[in-house]
Order: sequence, then structure tokens, then C-alpha cells
Amino acid sequence: MTAPLLAVHGVKAFYGSIMALKGVDLEVREGEIVTLIGANGAGKSTLMMTICGTPRAREGQIVFAGRDITRLPTHEIVRAKIAQAPEGRRIFPRMTVYENLQMGAAAGSLDPSHFERDLDRIFRLFPILAERRNQRGGTLSGGEQQMLSIARALMSRPRLLLLDEPSLGLAPRLVHQIFAAIRDLNKREGLTIFLVEQNAFHALRLADRGYVMVNGEITISGTGRELLERPEVRAAYLGARH
Ligand code: ATP
Repeated sequence: MTAPLLAVHGVKAFYGSIMALKGVDLEVREGEIVTLIGANGAGKSTLMMTICGTPRAREGQIVFAGRDITRLPTHEIVRAKIAQAPEGRRIFPRMTVYENLQMGAAAGSLDPSHFERDLDRIFRLFPILAERRNQRGGTLSGGEQQMLSIARALMSRPRLLLLDEPSLGLAPRLVHQIFAAIRDLNKREGLTIFLVEQNAFHALRLADRGYVMVNGEITISGTGRELLERPEVRAAYLGARH
């Protein structure tokens, strides 16, 4: 089998003396959607951030496209083609949609001639952003800000897109829209996606494979379907509705 695009080996990360990641092993193969689920405070966001270099892994190794990125500064990790659309939609609120997208492209240090073409592609994917291109990010609705966060990450032309809770705080209609966009990116463009979600049902249905994190450790892994059928996953993360 070919080497995974992203391989996380025995990663430990700390906030001060508190160990938030206790030796995490996980991999994402080219072309996959992989979902990480877990309760609040399990360490999911910390893992995403550690992949991006802050906080640093104090032990273990992170390999991306065959290259050890464990000790690279964040901007070099972005240049290595990992982009993160962070939780809380940390877009630039005073900048317009267009300017936010310019910042995303700048992070990837791309040839400027790609910009207009990439912008067209993003606006086809998220038509609402085309309509709002001159509006300040901070005045967009929650769903629009989330789309902008994903769009900005895509502007750096990543090989791996990290999505932290893309459905957080969105109305059900928008949740569907966001998950449909994620599926399209993967199926049509072949983009590899690593997704952290509280909305375990949607996220596992979408995923090729998934992992469960409890208290800084991976406790279960399998295909999305296997995880959806595991009684302990159903009991802890899917609720009565599913
Ligand atoms: P959620 O789904 O609520 O976002 P999570 O699984 O993403 O949770 P993390 O945000 O990674 O969890 O947090 C893991 C642990 O690390 C928690 O106990 C949290 O309180 C702690 N933690 C997170 N960020 C910091 C920080 N900057 N300083 C100190 N402790 C932190």
C-alpha cells in the first residue's frame, strides 16, 4: 500500500504541564475524507493545531507527503500544502470577502496568475461569497463566515484540508450545504480532507474512515460505516435520533 499523505505517530502535546495529546496515532491517505469525533475537551482541536505546528508535538512525529513536518514553523507547514479552516471561523472580520481570499492565496505563496482562476472556482463552489465579495467578513452570517473560512483555506491550494467543526452553530439547512460542499470538494476535485466534528452522524456518513478521541487518546478507528454501527459510538455520540 502507498504511504499515507498524513501520518501522526505517537504525538504528545502539552499546555503547560497538562498533557492534551497522550500519544496519538492516526493517518489520512490521499483522496480520503477522515473524520475525528470526540466529546468537548477530548483534544480534537489540539490535534489539528499540533499538525499545523502550534502547540508543537513534544514527542512523536508528524509526516506529510513523506516529509517530517514535526518541527517546521507553521508558515512552512502551510507552504507544504496543508491548510486549516479553523473553528470559530477565524476570518479577518474587517477585511472584505475578497481581501480574505487574497490572504488565503498569499499564505500559499502561489504564482499570482492563479488567483483569478482560483477565485472563479471558489465562487462557483460558494456562490454566496461571490455576491458578498465586497462585504466585510465580520458582517457575514455564521454560515457565510464558515464558507469563507473554508474558501480562504482552499485559496492556498492545499493537498490536505483540515476542517475544525465546520457545522458548529449552523442552522440545519446550512449544515447540509456545508457537508455537501465538503463532499463535492472530495469527490469532484479529489481533495483529501481531515475533519473534526461534533456532528458525528453527518461527519461519519461522509467519511471514508473515522477515529474517536477520548481524553487525548484515540480509542476507536474504522470505516465511517463501521463507526456509525458501533454501539459505543452510537451511545456516546449519535444520540437517540439516529
Ligand atoms: P471541543 O470539541 O470542545 O472544541 P476539543 O476536543 O477540540 O474540544 P481541545 O480544544 O483540543 O478539545 O482541548 C483539549 C484540552 O486542552 C481541554 O482540556 C482544554 O481545556 C485544554 N486546552 C485547550 N486549549 C488550551 C490552552 N490554550 N491552554 C490550556 N489548555 C488548553
